[in-house]
Amino acid sequence: MATIPLPFSLAKVQEIIRQYPTPFYLYDAAGIIRCVQGLQAAFAWNEGFREYFAVKAAPTPGILSLLSSLGCGMDCASMTELMLCERLGITGDRIMFSSNDTPGPEYEYARRLGAIINLDDLTHVDFLEAHGGIPDTVCCRYNPGRFSLDKNAIMGNLQDSKFGMPREQLLEAFRRLKAKGARHFGIHAMLISCSLDAAYFPTLLEDLLSLALEAKEKAGVEVEFIDLSGGIGIPYRPEESPVDIQAIGQAVRQIYAQLALANGLHPRLYTELGRYITGPYGYLITTALHEKRTYKHYLGVDASACDLMRPAIYGAYHHISVLGKENAPADHLYDVTGALCENNDKFAVDRLLPQVAMGDILVIHDAGAHGRSMGYNYNGKLRCGELLLEPDGSLRLLRRAETPKDYFATLDCTGLFDDLA
Ligand SMILES: *Cc1c(COP(=O)(O)O)cnc(C)c1O
Repeated sequence: MATIPLPFSLAKVQEIIRQYPTPFYLYDAAGIIRCVQGLQAAFAWNEGFREYFAVKAAPTPGILSLLSSLGCGMDCASMTELMLCERLGITGDRIMFSSNDTPGPEYEYARRLGAIINLDDLTHVDFLEAHGGIPDTVCCRYNPGRFSLDKNAIMGNLQDSKFGMPREQLLEAFRRLKAKGARHFGIHAMLISCSLDAAYFPTLLEDLLSLALEAKEKAGVEVEFIDLSGGIGIPYRPEESPVDIQAIGQAVRQIYAQLALANGLHPRLYTELGRYITGPYGYLITTALHEKRTYKHYLGVDASACDLMRPAIYGAYHHISVLGKENAPADHLYDVTGALCENNDKFAVDRLLPQVAMGDILVIHDAGAHGRSMGYNYNGKLRCGELLLEPDGSLRLLRRAETPKDYFATLDCTGLFDDLA
């Protein structure tokens, strides 16, 4: 199998480790920049196109300000995600607030920031009116109940999805919003997660444009923007290929010409990609600590599911490289484990790797989205820090590793941990 190129060498990582012991996340800024520019080029034909990065994927100021400097807005869903944006000077229509089950104070805060509010339910029209007021510009989240990429295949049952409103409710939400003074309208839908199918965005747009036409006829509302949201996948497995974002942009353009322009609509298009933007450009760097041969051959590393929980909760595949052994034959079968007292704390099961020596550095790929941000503290494990590799090769600390003091900080036991630095 071809080796997957890394944006850093063994020597570079060894140098980093002298200052920052493993485990840590390492993000490749150059890769993120290339990715955003490619996306923007693919949709440059649509005037007003904007990517709203899904903050939950990688909520650190270093990454958000890099994306903001490239012209991205931010997609938020919580108070602290909004706070991050406000502190970075990202406000107004550069924030898409795509929340659900939203507490009143979060709507109030989003309104104070001038964010675009994306309502998840019809009942939220009155709720928003009571918590911050009806804005000029508002978006509604659509759930069609069913969705298929081709006529024969049903993609998951959206009737089990808690997100968004059915068509009739969304039209009613538009009518009520309009009656209460809203003047600019958008529609949003996220029907898939981690899809490598190039047909997803064009098919979704087709659906949303038919809804936009209905909104015009039945609610007297002109849809000014369509948010295709996230869901574009990345090739976690080496045998998978990345999507061709330019081809997707062109396929979307065709649908747009046929169904929007031809019907007198010219909405701005938005995306809220997270995984696609940072996923491939974040690496979890960890060191081999223990080798254990029982019924299986285990390789214990110094990271755990607390740093990256996707394999444990979804059985997700993350490719693993052994630094400096990229060209050695992968002829040893390992389970790669963390230290949690949970048998699902395995970064890989039955994975062929080159023979690993204790002290070897392992790179867990594609951890740059929904990785560190999903971390937790089970077993009192401290979550690792995050570093950014700048395009010029310099290194920036985005987030230090947690300390015991952080872990104990919320306990109400005055004095017990005062000696901790
Ligand atoms: C999680 C999420 C995204 C990003 O999803 P990806 O799979 O990372 O692209 C975008 N929008 C909303 C509303 C989300 O919840």
